[in-house]
Amino acid sequence: MIQSIGTEANVSPRYSLVLPIYNEEQVLPRLVERIKLLIHQLDGETEAIFVDDGSRDGSVRYLRRMVAAEPHFRLIELSRNFGHQIAITAGMDAAKGDAVIVMDADLQDPPEVVLDLVAKWKEGFEIVYARRVKREGESWFKRFTAGLFYRLLEKMTSVDIPRDVGDFRLVGRKALETFRQMPEQDRFVRGMFGWMGFKQAAVPFERPARTHGQTKYPFWKMVHLAVHAIVSFSEQPLRLALWGGLGISALAAAFGAYAIFAWVFETGIVAGWTSTVVIVSLLCGINLFMTGVVGLYVGSIHAEVKRRPLYVIDRLTGFDRAVRALPGESRRSHRKSRIGVPANVPTLRQL
Ligand code: UDP
Ligand code: MG
Repeated sequence: MIQSIGTEANVSPRYSLVLPIYNEEQVLPRLVERIKLLIHQLDGETEAIFVDDGSRDGSVRYLRRMVAAEPHFRLIELSRNFGHQIAITAGMDAAKGDAVIVMDADLQDPPEVVLDLVAKWKEGFEIVYARRVKREGESWFKRFTAGLFYRLLEKMTSVDIPRDVGDFRLVGRKALETFRQMPEQDRFVRGMFGWMGFKQAAVPFERPARTHGQTKYPFWKMVHLAVHAIVSFSEQPLRLALWGGLGISALAAAFGAYAIFAWVFETGIVAGWTSTVVIVSLLCGINLFMTGVVGLYVGSIHAEVKRRPLYVIDRLTGFDRAVRALPGESRRSHRKSRIGVPANVPTLRQL
């Protein structure tokens, strides 16, 4: 299934940059300049795939103009906001390069670092991720919660998900093809790359602050991502619910025994209202919490069994331009099954 499509020594590699965009109007002009510069510096044919994730500002208008003028640029417009992780997936599905680099559009993932990622890839690493050694301009709260999350995830999963690593990474062709065969709806992309193995390496970088626009990951979206990450990579919460439930049941049994003992021997009772209320509400709370944990997994299964496409494409621009497709690669059925509108139907206004 998985072809080993390495780069031959005498052929320069092809690169694909994948950039998810959600309301990034303010930063786009700078981004485009930096990307052009990067394309110039890279030693092979490069395409930059912008994935518009349902932006409501002028991002799309700007990008369409840029893509029309710049032969290296492509644009995928999703039909609505599907979320960062899905936008990345859409871009990777369309990528034709031997190495695919995913980076944020807000310049917090500095384009120059891509050159370091490429250098590591050439040393023979299939997946090269950029590790944040310093995070500027982020509140202590974000750093603290992010740190806590990575450590918790490390404890709860058997998969090696590297710490302080976001979605800024380079992946080779083998990893890309593996990724395309992973159909799950619940996509925690950095975990998926951690799961697949291969030779992986890290390149450290200092993450600058966002200079334009605002973060699209407010607190609740981060919690959401963290919960999805844990549910899709760990069964620990279920086990915890089981053992927690057993522990509480043991305590309840002990208390029951005491209550019977007290009743039989009439050791100073009638009272007991407080303890009853405390115990009942405690048990109800724990019960609801554990049902909720189970519900998370059931919800996740529900999303999987519906087998909906992962995303819907509204419009593609720039893709008809010469990209040397690898033999047979675009015909894979598993890829079609997760794209809302297959790339060859006439409804898709292909420019
Ligand atoms: N993004 C996206 N869809 C979303 C949210 C974010 O495509 O629903 C993009 C966003 O435009 C940016 C990247 O994902 O390019 C990372 O988002 P952001 O910089 O807001 O996250 P942070 O760096 O604050 O964690
Ligand atoms: Mg950012």
